[in-house]
Amino acid sequence: MKRGRVLAVLVGGVFCLAVMSLYRMLDLMQGTEPRGHGDTPVGQVDEVSLQDLSRLQEKIDRLELLLKNNNRLVAKLRDALFQHKSLETGRGGANDSSDSAHRRAGAFPGCRLAEEMKNAADGVQLLDVYDLLRFDNPDGGAWKQGFEISYRSDEWAEQPLELFLVPHSHNDPGWLKTFDRYFQDQTRHILDNMLLKLGQDSRRKMIWAEISFFSKWWNGIDEQKRAMVKRLLEAGQLELVTGGWVMADEANSHYFALLDQLMEGHQWLQTHLGVTPSSGWAVDPFGHSPSMTYLLKGAGLSNMVIQRVHYAVKKHFAQQRTLEFQWRQSWDSSSRSDITCHMMPFYSYDVPHTCGPNPAVCCQFDFHRLPGGRVFCPWRIPPQPITEQNVQERALLLLDQYRQKSRLFRSPVLLVPLGDDFRYVESSEWDAQFSNYQKLFDYFDQHPELHIKARFGTLSDYFAALHRRLSTSETILPTLRGDFFTYADRDDHYWSGYFTSRPFYKRLDRTLESTLRATEILFSLTLADMHRFHGDGRLAAGFPAREHFQRLTMGRRSLALFQHHDAVTGTARDPVVVDYGTRMFHAILNLHQVLQSSAHWLTLLDKSQYHHDQSKPFFQMDEVISAHDALPQKTPLTLSDEPRSLVVFNPTEQLRSSVISAVVDSPDAHVVDAETGRPMAAQISAVWVEPGQVSTEAFQLSFIAELPPLALVTYHVTKASAGATPRARYTVHRHGNSASVLSEHFQVSHLEGSEVNAPLSLSNRHLQIWSSQDTGLLQKLRLRSGLVRQVQVQFLWYGTRTERYRDKSGAYLFLPGAEGAQLYSSSEPPLVRVTRGPIFSEITSCFRHFTHTVRLLHLDGHAGKSLQISNMVDIRSEANRELVMRLVSSVASGNRFYSDLNGFQMQQRRTLEKLPLQANFYPMTSSAFLQDPMSRLSLLSAQSQGVASLRPGELEVVLDRKLQQDDNRGLGQGVTDNKLTASVYHLLLEDRGGGAQEVGGASVEHLSLLAHLASLSLCHPPITMVAPSDSQRPKLGRFLPLSSSLPCDLHLLNLRTLEDPQEAQSPSQEVALLLHRKGFDCSSTPEPLPQCTWSVHEEVNLDDLFSPLRFRLVQRSGFTLLRDHDEQDSAQQQSPRIARLRPMEISAFRVQID
Ligand SMILES: [Zn+2]
Repeated sequence: MKRGRVLAVLVGGVFCLAVMSLYRMLDLMQGTEPRGHGDTPVGQVDEVSLQDLSRLQEKIDRLELLLKNNNRLVAKLRDALFQHKSLETGRGGANDSSDSAHRRAGAFPGCRLAEEMKNAADGVQLLDVYDLLRFDNPDGGAWKQGFEISYRSDEWAEQPLELFLVPHSHNDPGWLKTFDRYFQDQTRHILDNMLLKLGQDSRRKMIWAEISFFSKWWNGIDEQKRAMVKRLLEAGQLELVTGGWVMADEANSHYFALLDQLMEGHQWLQTHLGVTPSSGWAVDPFGHSPSMTYLLKGAGLSNMVIQRVHYAVKKHFAQQRTLEFQWRQSWDSSSRSDITCHMMPFYSYDVPHTCGPNPAVCCQFDFHRLPGGRVFCPWRIPPQPITEQNVQERALLLLDQYRQKSRLFRSPVLLVPLGDDFRYVESSEWDAQFSNYQKLFDYFDQHPELHIKARFGTLSDYFAALHRRLSTSETILPTLRGDFFTYADRDDHYWSGYFTSRPFYKRLDRTLESTLRATEILFSLTLADMHRFHGDGRLAAGFPAREHFQRLTMGRRSLALFQHHDAVTGTARDPVVVDYGTRMFHAILNLHQVLQSSAHWLTLLDKSQYHHDQSKPFFQMDEVISAHDALPQKTPLTLSDEPRSLVVFNPTEQLRSSVISAVVDSPDAHVVDAETGRPMAAQISAVWVEPGQVSTEAFQLSFIAELPPLALVTYHVTKASAGATPRARYTVHRHGNSASVLSEHFQVSHLEGSEVNAPLSLSNRHLQIWSSQDTGLLQKLRLRSGLVRQVQVQFLWYGTRTERYRDKSGAYLFLPGAEGAQLYSSSEPPLVRVTRGPIFSEITSCFRHFTHTVRLLHLDGHAGKSLQISNMVDIRSEANRELVMRLVSSVASGNRFYSDLNGFQMQQRRTLEKLPLQANFYPMTSSAFLQDPMSRLSLLSAQSQGVASLRPGELEVVLDRKLQQDDNRGLGQGVTDNKLTASVYHLLLEDRGGGAQEVGGASVEHLSLLAHLASLSLCHPPITMVAPSDSQRPKLGRFLPLSSSLPCDLHLLNLRTLEDPQEAQSPSQEVALLLHRKGFDCSSTPEPLPQCTWSVHEEVNLDDLFSPLRFRLVQRSGFTLLRDHDEQDSAQQQSPRIARLRPMEISAFRVQID
């Protein structure tokens, strides 16, 4: 009780302080505060020409500082209150003593939670396996990449071999043909025949993975066939495995899209078939990621099969008999994330490589290859139909393969897939496989002395038998951590090319992804707002909720389809790529419609003025894409004395300062916050039509927007009097010689005196950079703390092998020439343009093949701490070349670096000399970093691409690849459809203050808090919409759904409206609330602290977090929100709704927003 009173006093005190600070802020806003001195920035400062602006800037600075302090106070207050509550109630809060809780709160809260996860070290780390292996690729005999397997024939006398032959047909939703073409030509026949053939004999089985195809087929079949599908599912003859929309790529896909495509598939299955998948099947993705296994486990699956793993790793696992293991997340100190994984031992998932180690023998048991057909055995021994005469010999030959394969596993249960790409199209193929195998199985049954029980099965049949056997023999599968990149299927053929192939579409994928997420959130909030407004569950008259929901569904499915392992990978034929691109392009246009009318409703001050006109949307997007292969373009705005309204949506859960840019027709523009009338700091910069030519009609207006979390903020832009808006100043030169640039609106100066030879330099409050005078490329960074690191930006070319008979780089493979990377050189030095302004400064280098820009924002918050890098690449004129951007730094990183897996987690990488160059490239979905005890250099990206650190301190990313030839993996073409391609990054140098011990870093590391925030703003940029210029326009206001930012480490992954189970293709009132609590590194304390808070507890109060939004029903569920996976006893009808959110973990709730 006494402690309670002390706490109450403390809480009261903190509250008073917060209130006093707020008063002071108000005071400042009224402009009564005399001017003070700001902090002195490092190095030279870009002077602000206008006095007013600098005064305003100072005020903003002070406001920001106060706001930060208030945020911290509020955070402490919240923690103290929470602690108090949990002490009072004795439940729900931290379960240790309040003293230790106070101690934690005083330190760097949140870190403890993240740090705890680093201690997990049990089980086998794949990195250590890599250190162990020789990668010498000796000839293994019949099993070329393996070894001779021997066994005694009595080995199965006690426990007979239990074999499950699993028929499957691998259907790519687009590769050599488009999705629709494959469906018409093959898939629908396969599924039609499946109904027929499984129906004929209850012993027959089949598995199916791709729900995109399955749902399309379902839409076209009658009720009788649908009933038959359900009967087959109930009887266990047909199993839907994984249940994703596609069999997703695991290297380039972001975890948002991975989960979304899984959710789309699972939700479809629930609605139409009432089934919940329990086993995963990923036989074709080119390498495997633990992020995928985490999502599968979270979606309720307990087993999975993988196939494409480096052949040397497969061999090692086969020798150790660890092909079956519990796959655990690297960061997980518990077994919560474990999933049972079966790794297929041999080269491929086709029949020659699944029955046993000898493909020449196994091929004879692919009865689709019987003589006279279109497919044959390349080992030149054809299959024979099984007859009474040959059944004994055939059965024993096959049994020998089964027995050899079984020796690679710890249990006598054996999984043998039976299928290939687009198999079982014709009914004769079904008959050939099923009848011949049935004869073999019957023979085994009649000969118990062979000790084998063989039958057709599904994955669930197999795993059920496996777990049964494991538990009776008390065998425990080994635990494994890590990932399976980079994949090699033979020799030095590493599949690291596809990490970058078709980079234009990899970028478009992420544009669609961020557009989809933003639209999902805004749509869900709009429906909730309408329900609240009317009070009776009605929506606004005319609001096309159903049509919008269908547009959202189309957006989800287009993104989902592109996660297929031949789509986002860039490994499909040219016309198929165009098909994917067109789908994504249309999806973005559709989503824009939803965004526009949602924003219309939410920003209207007088809701009675709402009307919807499909042909004439109220808002226009400020940035539009005109075609599937075009880059986004800003729509120029015509300014006048009448204000134009810009509405900016912040799709992140954090309050953020963003630089918003628009293209206007006047060099003088005035921006105010529409609600407060407060003028926004702005800058006018040139729009460059050519590297050295300024547009005389268009100008770039940039202003600083303070955007509350998930808010829509309206700004008014008007034409201003001449000279009212600060303009950027320029120097433009080539090789020290000033270039002649004519501009009536901008000051373009020449290099003078010592400037000619001195490095270029830019700075803001946080850092200073130096760049080469000659090339404009970055050379050095210095932080305010004094930390200096060389960071040289270089561009280089890789070629491919030149030997006539050797394989060359293609869509999948990266096979660089022996000379390695060659420094980019051009006959003409680049035009270098330096921009200096009050909002941002930048250096642009215009080379023939690329335009490279490094921008520094003059912002005080965390947005000013990273450098914004953009590359505009065009290598269409080249042949067999790949362009890379390399950072050569003085960070002493040794041979270690970190790259992310699907944007979900960081994975340590070790650059190994025993491996060829191409093997040391890894996928980078959104981030990579290098570190030493003093510093960390993070490169955050908004698109997926290949990354490597070939020497200590270096980090390179592949920007584009143009390759003239096929690389013999079935595609049958090179990649030559290159486009003008954009790639964008944030580069962040952080001072670790010597706090870190190990050189290069520990095996589990996380992004820093700042890097998380920078990545969030890079991947989810603000979305700007423009209101019509007509003077009759209705008044628009702000929409502020949250009263404060979510904690820094908590990411609102999605707020996704679910389909109405009663009314197909319509939105329900239920929303999937997906939260991801991130792990973060603690070795660098951001200074000043970010504006958001972070909690010391795993338990959070959802009502507090999302206040003033109120959740009515809250039900915790699996990641794909299947009702079968609703957690018992977690439904919360009453406040407080306390939910446990563990670091690194995703949590899913079904909610109704009030
Ligand atoms: Zn495939």
